Amino acid sequence: MFNLILFGPPGSGKGTQSVKIAEKFKLKHVSTGDILRSEIKNKTELGILAKSFIDKGELVPDNLLIDILHDLFDKNKDVNGFILDGFPRTIVQAEALDKLMIEINDHISKVISLDIPDEEVVSRLLKRAEIEGREDDNEATISNRLKVYKNQTSPLLEYYEKQEKLLEVQGVGSIDDIFNSICSGLV
Ligand code: AMP
Repeated sequence: MFNLILFGPPGSGKGTQSVKIAEKFKLKHVSTGDILRSEIKNKTELGILAKSFIDKGELVPDNLLIDILHDLFDKNKDVNGFILDGFPRTIVQAEALDKLMIEINDHISKVISLDIPDEEVVSRLLKRAEIEGREDDNEATISNRLKVYKNQTSPLLEYYEKQEKLLEVQGVGSIDDIFNSICSGLV
């Protein structure tokens, strides 16, 4: 299988690029943020718990996310591969993912990291708040999400660099230019 991770700060364009990558390489797009938002909408037990973290800009506990991924891999055995958007976000999640991949006799092919300056992140998220009305796109939560990204998620860059899987791409520019840079790095 061709399994990709798309990695980057909030507002770096992960969602947009994941959809394009999924289409081009016929992969299953997995957005953990979208999965959690749908649980919240359906007022499930998981959704109610997740909301208490998401509203503060904190990460949802690792074990919940790992269970979601485990279940998803179990239910999608016939796909060409996955594009993981928003997972893993901690070293614990990355280590669990490596184990899950071994269980299904597979591996992560590449990790794409979208580079984007903080100021650009804040202005994009505030703009997105106006358009999409996402509750966690407000100034206080944005600044916490950036802090969480730096402290808990950015150490993953080194984790995947050591595995020689990292592909760093400039995340500022037109959607198509960024997509083309990703694609040329993948071949
Ligand atoms: P996103 O749509 O990827 O920006 O995710 C929105 C929110 O969902 C994040 O700020 C987290 O609170 C939560 N979330 C999404 N993916 C994860 C994950 N892999 N680990 C923990 N929390 C997550």
